Amino acid sequence: MSDPETVLRGVGATIVVLSGKGGVGKSTTAVQLAFTLRKLGHKVGILDVDLCGPSIPRMLAVEDQDVLTTPQGKWVPVFADKERKLSVVSIAFFLNSKKDAVIWRGPKKNSMIKQLLTAVDWDVDYLIIDTPPGTSDEHLAVMENIRCANVLGAVLVTTPQMLSVDDVTRELTFCRKTQLNVLGIIENMAGYVCPNCSECSNILAWGGGEALAERASLTFLGRVPIEPKLTQCTETGDNFMEKFAQSPVASVYESIVQKL
Ligand code: ADP
Repeated sequence: MSDPETVLRGVGATIVVLSGKGGVGKSTTAVQLAFTLRKLGHKVGILDVDLCGPSIPRMLAVEDQDVLTTPQGKWVPVFADKERKLSVVSIAFFLNSKKDAVIWRGPKKNSMIKQLLTAVDWDVDYLIIDTPPGTSDEHLAVMENIRCANVLGAVLVTTPQMLSVDDVTRELTFCRKTQLNVLGIIENMAGYVCPNCSECSNILAWGGGEALAERASLTFLGRVPIEPKLTQCTETGDNFMEKFAQSPVASVYESIVQKL
């Protein structure tokens, strides 16, 4: 357990983003929630604790930056915008090479996560924590350390198919066991809207996330379709919420944030 005085100091409220599987759009969701909160005028931080696949710096085009250290030994987050309202800390900043794999046993992971949660000099209204898929050492380490902080709860991300929904059900059990409030479920990659004819094809089935939310008496936060412009923004580090502010997908994220 960490000293409550040091855990997430400088953070107003924390939101944890979870998914049962990799590749369902968890990091994309974490980034878009951050962009949306920032658009609403808040100062936002993202803490990327996905030790084995840290993708947030790339999604924000800051992968070549370094975390600096204050004279007091605290880490200064990397800013992803010129207004200095969106900041990020990721394990990726501490690796010698971007291609290095993190092959650590539990105790080393725990101690790195504890440091990430206690040694950063944040100044944000909201902190979004992007976790690895599943329920692993990283999740337990986060939960053990953030109990004393102001945690709003978890956002669960799933694709619509039962394969992903089943895994998110396990995530739900984790939240219940660790007494982490669940803010709701997002169904990501729910349909593909053809840019030419606007017809929506349900490539990855439909409705699994909403059905789970109903079954578990949780808030269904919203349904985000497959949007190629969003994929493109996560590749280039562009701010989708600014660049495509008129897109229906931008409205979906705005409505999701209002429900948190
Ligand atoms: P995870 O964090 O769950 O492993 P990512 O957020 O890295 O998944 O997303 C995996 C890939 O899917 C990325 O290339 C991302 O751009 C893309 N992606 C995620 N959600 C969407 C979406 N709604 N529309 C289009 N592409 C998406």
